[in-house]
Amino acid sequence: MRQVVVKSVLSKTKRRDAWFLDDYTVNPFSGCAFNCLYCYIRGSKYGEHMEEKLSLKSNVLEVLEKQLKLRAKKGQYGIVVVSSATDPYLSVEEDSQVTRHLLEMLLHYRFPVHVITKSNRVVRDFDILKRIDRESILPTDLQPLLSHAALITFSFSTLDDAVGKLFEPGAPSPTLRLQALRETLAAGFHSGVSLMPLIPYVTDTGENLHHMFSTFETVGAKYIFPATLTLFGDGPADSKTLVLRAIEKHYPHLTEKYRKLFASGGQLPRWYRDAFASKVKSLSEAHRLKNTILEQSGSVQG
Ligand code: SF4
Repeated sequence: MRQVVVKSVLSKTKRRDAWFLDDYTVNPFSGCAFNCLYCYIRGSKYGEHMEEKLSLKSNVLEVLEKQLKLRAKKGQYGIVVVSSATDPYLSVEEDSQVTRHLLEMLLHYRFPVHVITKSNRVVRDFDILKRIDRESILPTDLQPLLSHAALITFSFSTLDDAVGKLFEPGAPSPTLRLQALRETLAAGFHSGVSLMPLIPYVTDTGENLHHMFSTFETVGAKYIFPATLTLFGDGPADSKTLVLRAIEKHYPHLTEKYRKLFASGGQLPRWYRDAFASKVKSLSEAHRLKNTILEQSGSVQG
């Protein structure tokens, strides 16, 4: 695999996201081999086949150690999202085990962690994540609201393996992910799902949403984050081009609807987003799925 040398790997976020609670992010790879068509990191930098441009940040551990040491010395503990612009459990990770080493380092400096993944491989690291959950230090303002310092979120756009193959061609199947979610919850982790993004008229239909919400309620997910699709760019490697092409090929009856939906840009029209928000609000209530990771009510500081 290609390698790149980086100057910084621990990025401080401008403000903590109310869903993901990210104070910092760490990405061990540049690019992603899961190659999701709707991915926001797509574009001219990585090209149409992102997996071909994938690089390991060869000095990630060395740089991370320096940055964590400094932050810990200043008492600047915060939740570290692993990862925000790649998947931490790509199959190439198995050789270097870079994500495992990275978690070991976060544990050593007692930083809390939020793993966001589409992979079932996270179960390999339950031993370290368990220790992080018990031993790491949550930021002071979150301590009354949350009792877990290891959070694990699985990302889904569908529960149908065939649909997953079309839109997330390099990722482990939704079936494997769902099984991993079950195992994660059975192991006692605070774990839930991000439905980002749901695909208009394909995976966000009433029937499909009902199936997804009931499934996640049955497995005992602690939270759910449903979101609509946003697309970027008109270049050959951009998410808008790739998703519209996939719709044209696999769902030709939706082509015209998609043209209209995305006629004025990358965001779905306001009426669509409002209808979606009200649908998922009632489903969340009906299936007793929270829209927050927090266990106690309260607001998070940015
Ligand atoms: S797993 Fe995430 S980062 Fe990787 S291609 Fe898919 S959306 Fe992009």
